[in-house]
Amino acid sequence: MSVDARKALFRFDYRRSPDQDRPARHPVIVVGAGPVGLCAAIDLRLRGIPVVLLDDADRIGEGSRGICYAKRTLEILDRLGIGERCVAHGVTWKVGKVFWRDELLYAFDLLPEAGHKRPAFVNLQQYHLERYLVERAAQVGVDLRWRNRVTGLEPLNDGAALAVETPEGSYRVEADWVVAADGARSSLRGLLGLDFEGEAFEDRFLIADVRMTGDFPPERWFWFDPPFHSGRSALLHKQPDNIWRIDLQLGAEADPELERRPERVRPRLEKMLGHSAFELEWVSVYTFQCRRLRRFVHGRVLFAGDAAHQVSPFGARGGNSGVQDAENLAWKLALVLNGDAPPSLIETYDTERLAAADENIAHATRSIDFIVPRSAQDLRLRDAVLALARDTAFAKRMVNSGRLSTASTYDTPLSTPDRDAWGGAARLGAPVPDAPLLDRSGRPVWLLDALGGEPAVLHVPDGDPPPELPGVRRIAVGEDLRDEEGLFAARFDAGPGATLLVRPDQHLAARWRRCDPAALAAAFRRMQGSP
Ligand SMILES: Cc1cc2nc3c(=O)[nH]c(=O)nc-3n(C[C@H](O)[C@H](O)[C@H](O)COP(=O)(O)OP(=O)(O)OC[C@H]3O[C@@H](n4cnc5c(N)ncnc54)[C@H](O)[C@@H]3O)c2cc1C
Repeated sequence: MSVDARKALFRFDYRRSPDQDRPARHPVIVVGAGPVGLCAAIDLRLRGIPVVLLDDADRIGEGSRGICYAKRTLEILDRLGIGERCVAHGVTWKVGKVFWRDELLYAFDLLPEAGHKRPAFVNLQQYHLERYLVERAAQVGVDLRWRNRVTGLEPLNDGAALAVETPEGSYRVEADWVVAADGARSSLRGLLGLDFEGEAFEDRFLIADVRMTGDFPPERWFWFDPPFHSGRSALLHKQPDNIWRIDLQLGAEADPELERRPERVRPRLEKMLGHSAFELEWVSVYTFQCRRLRRFVHGRVLFAGDAAHQVSPFGARGGNSGVQDAENLAWKLALVLNGDAPPSLIETYDTERLAAADENIAHATRSIDFIVPRSAQDLRLRDAVLALARDTAFAKRMVNSGRLSTASTYDTPLSTPDRDAWGGAARLGAPVPDAPLLDRSGRPVWLLDALGGEPAVLHVPDGDPPPELPGVRRIAVGEDLRDEEGLFAARFDAGPGATLLVRPDQHLAARWRRCDPAALAAAFRRMQGSP
């Protein structure tokens, strides 16, 4: 698809809303139809909450930006209904290779074991992801309003009022809750007088998407100090539609205007690729930040995604962590709006996702420090690690070309601490690992698909079943679902009697070797934020 065809396909019309003619109030307004706002809106809608989604633009896909979507994000997108489209069109990969100068130092495998529905990563241009999300939002009934720019925000005791500008003038609209997903330059952050805390890095990076038919495999290739770009770093990634993403470190002194020009970009890429048979699809020059808001919850205004935090792209943590923000927020907001949980449950969004942002920022900062040493001494140390990494496992572990996005494990008041010791891959506070199972009629089913977005008690029958809890599904592994391959038992260390409480975002909230009905009921109340 040419860039012009894509721009036409990804353009959306402004439509007048009845809210422009009369006072209106909604349970939730999401501001920003980027990946994070779209995921939040779809998730809320799937949970039965009416959602208005406002975006100031009338299009998506101007630039490429995010490309790598991690396993956990794909699992969330599955639940939202577009996982399959992303995987079908995207480039699946799990192997990364690290080069130093002209030699291959080592390769790593991000998902060495089988028995998971989703791969370690899929590469897909962000505009494809956004288009799938926009189409899904329309399908599930999100009231998505293009060319609706939020220009004013008035906090209320029980909500917030927004001033919205459209091509036909401005209007005022109220909401019980506002999700601020309006990106890195968030207007809502400005309207509340909030600022980021953290670090901005001076080094500039050239990011280019090029169209060519190459025979590089679907792997992540990262070079330190390669012969074609001496003294700097480079990254190559495959995307669908014969598009390749290339990142080249330029240095702090690079002139962004100059470096963006095709006559500067092409020779650099020709030197790297060894030929000139490519077209430039998109070029930009970036600097990166690692920073976040002090809090994500400000009364009834809840910040998510780039509006709440930013990281460098080495590790693909920006969009991936934003999608996890959206998922963390949606089930909590739905419970609160339905009167099933106290508003204080929203505070745990702050606790859980601030900790996740700190973890992402720490990883991204360490990656940048390794990729772009700050002093001659740091550079010597970095190169010593690279030299040692040729032959030693411990030095390989110290090489940091971007630790890739993984799901967060929450140390949270919503979890009930383990009484017993547990083996296996499942971790309290983490998303439960997937496993291949069979349903009652012998059809294959993945555990995460079976769980969906409802809270669940998973148990391995041995005596009385766990008690029923309101709105909670009981799934007996061995009866409702069969574990023929034994991977559920191994990953959960689950023998007869094992009972596991799973949150609506599929994170593990509590577990017992044998069901204790009173403890299960207490853990369920705790998981919903009740004292
Ligand atoms: C070069 C590069 C590579 C990247 N690679 C990856 C990657 O591989 N994987 C990954 O996960 N992430 C990656 N990222 C990060 C990712 O692109 C962002 O984290 C992601 O776009 C954040 O999504 P968002 O929805 O929070 O914000 P955005 O995508 O910025 O969306 C915000 C939306 O809000 C709208 N808006 C703004 N102000 C208003 C207003 N006042 N009123 C109404 N609407 C408004 C905007 O029009 C926009 O549609 C990369 C970023 C860059 C720059």
